[in-house]
Amino acid sequence: MEDSQYLIICPKCGCRDLFIRKDFPQKLGLAIVVLAAVAFLVLAAWRSSFYLGAIVLIAATIIDAILYVIVPKITVCYRCRAEFRDVPINPKHEGFELAIGEKYRTP
Ligand SMILES: [Zn+2]
Repeated sequence: MEDSQYLIICPKCGCRDLFIRKDFPQKLGLAIVVLAAVAFLVLAAWRSSFYLGAIVLIAATIIDAILYVIVPKITVCYRCRAEFRDVPINPKHEGFELAIGEKYRTP
């Protein structure tokens, strides 16, 4: 297999630094966490429904975990932040690294 089937440079800006991240719907993830936290606070206010609050928290954690597993991986450019969904994941690419990210951070 040739490397050419993978994305090596960003087609938009020519940057050679690309990283892999989960295409996680962050707003949805956040919404689940916030809803679960609110539900927990409400339910935990009463001793009799405290366990329900705990169940809600556990369920939200499981839903988040399942979402994390089923969402696809995408390639993202460090420089222009373009996201590429329809390309195979280059095994040489890794997750976001802060050190490289800092290099391209716009002030
Ligand atoms: Zn780019």
